[in-house]
Amino acid sequence: MPQLAQRVGRAKPSAIMVIAEKARQLKAAGRDIISFSIGVPNFLPGEHVYAAAREALSHDSGQYGSNRGAEPLLDAFLKHIEALGFRGYGRMNLSIGIGAKQVLYNLAEALLDEGDEIAFAAPFWTTYRDIADIVGAKANILHCGPERNYKLVPAQLDAALARRPKVFLFNNPSNPTGMVYTREEIAALADVLADHPDTWIVTDDIYNSMVFDGIGYHNFVFARPELKDRLVFVDSLSKTYGMPGWRVGLMAGPEAVARAVTTLNSNHITSLPEVITAAAVAALAGPQDVPQAKCAEFAAKRDTVVAALAAIPGVVCPRPQGAFYAFPDISAAFGRRHGDTPIDSDVAFCAALLEAKGVACVPGSAFGEPRAMRISYTCPAAQLQPGLERIQAFFAELT
Ligand code: PMP
Repeated sequence: MPQLAQRVGRAKPSAIMVIAEKARQLKAAGRDIISFSIGVPNFLPGEHVYAAAREALSHDSGQYGSNRGAEPLLDAFLKHIEALGFRGYGRMNLSIGIGAKQVLYNLAEALLDEGDEIAFAAPFWTTYRDIADIVGAKANILHCGPERNYKLVPAQLDAALARRPKVFLFNNPSNPTGMVYTREEIAALADVLADHPDTWIVTDDIYNSMVFDGIGYHNFVFARPELKDRLVFVDSLSKTYGMPGWRVGLMAGPEAVARAVTTLNSNHITSLPEVITAAAVAALAGPQDVPQAKCAEFAAKRDTVVAALAAIPGVVCPRPQGAFYAFPDISAAFGRRHGDTPIDSDVAFCAALLEAKGVACVPGSAFGEPRAMRISYTCPAAQLQPGLERIQAFFAELT
């Protein structure tokens, strides 16, 4: 019997999908389930995006397109990143992918050889570890617990970079914590990065349009423009425009990296479809009222979540300032019981919460932090408060 490749054995099914599937089964069995588990935006793009897609469909050539991305898409993305604060980029600095996830896989293939080290902070988006595993890289995970607001500090980054990892992967705003680095924090980390010239820097900042409290979006290259030679910025239409299923990811970085990703595209995917490309151009270049309204809505929901969690004795939740996630430390529940069920871990906590109260959250261990759980607050507003009250009731019932 032939065997599967070893790299498939290394890839684990996503813990997020496991919880989401259990929630789906309970719902199908008639249970009233509130899902705080999956990080998908619950809104649709503006009508102009659909109009552009319909229009493109009516004259679709049916042909393969550019491996790098069609010129109108590259030009729209250039304007978009200029508005964010990136300076001096041209089409040759860009490439595309089937979502940011595929861009990140391409970057891993482009930048990492087997055995190379990739450093990133925990809590991390689950796929980071899987990407490292699949390309055979060694992950150096930099733990940033709730006691330091889940944020990487300069001394810790300095120590990690002293090991000369091939890649430092950074995520701001963060999935799963909702943390956002301030201009000053980014500048301090950028100073450290500037001292370590042998490491590529990948900033996966796909939630850059969802930053609250006037903090703004900041990138290392804004603080230290010389990092441009080895920094890759990854973006996506999924969360900003409510288009996760349209699968459009983009990158901006050094020409050599954009060329490598484009070459990998020519082998992996060839191109994005014309209809998708037209919709993406419309989203990037058209009115930005949907992302702006959603950002305000998520900021208000964040307040609701933070207030409800603060009212639970023992629960600590560093205040999220972006994306649509909260990541409370629930370890005060460990060692206690809910009814007959012992709560000895984040996994046990989330399983019991789902079973007893019908609320689906993701155990923090999926993100490298077993003291916490992730609450994704993209659910309809009417479900938010009831879901949070069920979490409060669950805690109150612990013995
Ligand atoms: N990076 C982060 C931090 C994410 O949370 C996600 C999606 N959950 C992605 C990348 C991938 O996004 P896309 O839909 O563009 O593949």
